[in-house]
Amino acid sequence: MKIMKFGGTSVGKPERMHQVAQLITKTDEPKIVVLSALSGTTNSLVGISSHLAQSDRGGAKQAIDKLEAHYRDFVLQLATTEEGRKKADAIVTEHFEFLNIILRISFSEALNKDILAQGELLSTKLFSVFLEEQNIPHVFLLALDFMTIDANEEPQLGSIKVKLSQILKQHKDAKLFVTQGYICRNSRGEVDNLKRGGSDYTASLIAAAIKATVCEIWTDIDGMHNNDPRVVDKTLPIKQISFEEAAELAYFGAKILHPTCIWPAQQTNVPVKLLNTMQPEADGTVITEDAGSMGVKAVAAKDGIIAIKIKSSRMLLAYGFLRKIFEVFEKYRTSIDMVTTSEVAVSLTIDNDTFLKEIVKELEQFGSVEVDTNQTIISVVGNEIAQTEHVLQQLFTAIADIPVRMVSYGGSHHNITILVQSDYKIKTLQLLNKGLFGL
Ligand code: ASP
Ligand code: MG
Repeated sequence: MKIMKFGGTSVGKPERMHQVAQLITKTDEPKIVVLSALSGTTNSLVGISSHLAQSDRGGAKQAIDKLEAHYRDFVLQLATTEEGRKKADAIVTEHFEFLNIILRISFSEALNKDILAQGELLSTKLFSVFLEEQNIPHVFLLALDFMTIDANEEPQLGSIKVKLSQILKQHKDAKLFVTQGYICRNSRGEVDNLKRGGSDYTASLIAAAIKATVCEIWTDIDGMHNNDPRVVDKTLPIKQISFEEAAELAYFGAKILHPTCIWPAQQTNVPVKLLNTMQPEADGTVITEDAGSMGVKAVAAKDGIIAIKIKSSRMLLAYGFLRKIFEVFEKYRTSIDMVTTSEVAVSLTIDNDTFLKEIVKELEQFGSVEVDTNQTIISVVGNEIAQTEHVLQQLFTAIADIPVRMVSYGGSHHNITILVQSDYKIKTLQLLNKGLFGL
């Protein structure tokens, strides 16, 4: 059995949904299809929630009406029969009635999660109606019946496995299942979600739970690229890459894949394929245990980074100093990305400034503290990159004119990370494209 996950743009237009129906019926292999919300929907739902959080019912009502109009239009083009149109319209009515009722209830975090869940419920239900119209047999699964997170918001893979296999057992002869990405139930039994972009995570968790043959992630680009195609002219899809390299790239900015979605597939050794709905014949990227080749594979950038330097002459030969510093970050639940040390100073980076003031205040007891905002992490990723000849030389020759704030090398075998001011990001990515890939 395989998993096919389609992102928001892959289902965001009626004709795209038609195309998805073709893609999932190309082979007989049993499959579970995971869908995101139509593109733009989750953003709109977030908007509706924030109007309500500020008690702006008028604003919320306007946003609800606008979104409803979008869905009415969508249904008109999606359905091909009168009966299908009626069914699809009834689904839209049901979900927008719910949103309109919410307008009258006092807002809470649990309600917010209910609002956010509407997108994936709508996309999968509408798709199911379309499949029915096309006489494509399938089973509609409610992710809320098996996808759960614990009190720390971590998915409960063991329980997901048990629940899902029980459900699948009830449909022994079925070859096609359709379910929602992103949504789940939390430890209180309420509707919750796997955070923005979490549909990839759903796909990978399901793939791990049923030990799928492959987890296909269908988006609107032909795989993971060697560089950011939004700011660099010539980029190429990567054919094969290891789980570790992919995780590193996803975490450090490759937008195509949600960073958390690697581990479930990796743990159960299910290959992940990144494919393009608009160009289904393209090879895309295969992510497996095996990296395929050595050397530099890709560069990625992550913006919004804050560099913090703690300088102390007392640190000289002091043990326990780093622990004390890290404890401050632990206390404020702020994770650290990069670390470099010299004998008298430590520099590190964070991407979350929620507790920056508090952190700086506590760090000041250890020495002088400097904060640089607007930094970008550029990560150069490749299998055994540390052992690849001339990589460092090529890298630094390529960016000789760029002021580099920090360098981290040797933390893993497949990564070199540098920190630059965000103003230099595009230039750095372009120079690396030439210097490392000759593009
Ligand atoms: N619809 C959700 C979002 O936009 C989840 C996803 O698309 O992966 O964040
Ligand atoms: Mg997405």
